[in-house]
Amino acid sequence: MSDHLFPRVLTRSLPTAVGAEGAWIIDADGKRYLDGAGGAIVVGVGHGDAALIAAAEAQLRRTQYVHGTMFTTEAVDSYADEVANVLPVVAPRIYPVSGGSEAVETALKMARAYHLARGEGGRVTVIARRSSYHGNTLGALDASGKEPLRKPYTPWLGRFLHGPAAYEYRCENPSHPEGCGDWHAAELGRMIESYGPETIAAFIAEPIGGATLGAAVPCDDYWPKIVEVCRTHGVLVIADEVMTGFGRSGRWFGVDHWDIRPDIVTAGKGTTSGYVPFGFAACSGAVFDAIAPNGFVHGFTWSHQALGAAVAQATLRRLRDDGLVERSRELGAKLLQELRGELEAVEHVGDVRGAGMMLGIELVRDRASKEPFARSELVTERLLSAAREDGLLLYSSTGHIDGTNGDLVMLGPPFTLTDDDAAILVERTVRAVRSVE
Ligand code: PLP
Repeated sequence: MSDHLFPRVLTRSLPTAVGAEGAWIIDADGKRYLDGAGGAIVVGVGHGDAALIAAAEAQLRRTQYVHGTMFTTEAVDSYADEVANVLPVVAPRIYPVSGGSEAVETALKMARAYHLARGEGGRVTVIARRSSYHGNTLGALDASGKEPLRKPYTPWLGRFLHGPAAYEYRCENPSHPEGCGDWHAAELGRMIESYGPETIAAFIAEPIGGATLGAAVPCDDYWPKIVEVCRTHGVLVIADEVMTGFGRSGRWFGVDHWDIRPDIVTAGKGTTSGYVPFGFAACSGAVFDAIAPNGFVHGFTWSHQALGAAVAQATLRRLRDDGLVERSRELGAKLLQELRGELEAVEHVGDVRGAGMMLGIELVRDRASKEPFARSELVTERLLSAAREDGLLLYSSTGHIDGTNGDLVMLGPPFTLTDDDAAILVERTVRAVRSVE
């Protein structure tokens, strides 16, 4: 590794990736790793896909860089038209950016612009949730309730509010599992009323808790009731679909499980299956119509880029035309069932959960009391290391319980995973989980 690189990981040296195909990544020593988490729950279509590579090449031959204030492109326009058919937003308008954090920043500013345009400039506060993740730029980090990532930057944060997480395994509702949707809605309503609805701009949440809570699926009536409270108080609903979007949870978008229509949706990761940096914030036609006459003070050098849109369009077509969202739903359900069966007898597995190809395993010292391991035991790190040795890549989260303790691993393989690879994924995952016994 170069001495001039500031590496992403500072605690160990990384292998050099030299190739990838399907669900596998190959390093410079020829070792093959099963990409059990699609990197960071990103890769849906699989590595080395001819259609996605051809789309990137064709676009680069057409135009390379043109600025978003000077031109639109065929790639951006036709992608906007095509993705509109699957977005869970009424009359959507997409604002393309380079990734998830930028999509979240854009969504937050859209909410602010909407209220300003309607003469409600007092609506400045965003309500997010504890144990959430919305990105690492300062606005998105402020929305995030992921304590280990917030800690060093605390003096720069604190403008947003955080309510309870939708976390069935450790639900904050005292009467859980009775009336959880009602309880969450009442909590949110109380929060909005105590600060004053005229000060609240938006509520932002992941439809299914991802990078912090490891595929935590809310109870059935959570989302419909939360949306109702927001609508009552004129608070915009932002669904952060950066991880759940584009088939990851077995539906096109996470909110499709509950058939709700947010005012703004964000997307990133799976839009291009990770081939090129891309994402977007999509607002409803009503939000756009309010903002448009006054203008939208925002933009990035790389927003509205044709290359990202072209690869995103090819990704969308692969997902749609080759039934990959259904594949995510069906194979994901099978993986969940198999993992639950195989890990049932493993005492330090507290919960195995998820939807589609977005799965999480929560590790605990004591299954009955759900007491976590001490962070000093490095359970997640040891598990990931054992998996890597064995040629399996998993994704992780630590510290979700109290900012320090909490051990979670996630699976999120490409939807194109073959049945044989799925069997290897289960076998190696179980072996890695057992290795920390
Ligand atoms: N929002 C959610 C729900 C995410 O899961 C992530 C990344 O994990 C982000 C936003 C940030 O995306 P990015 O890392 O592309 O900036």
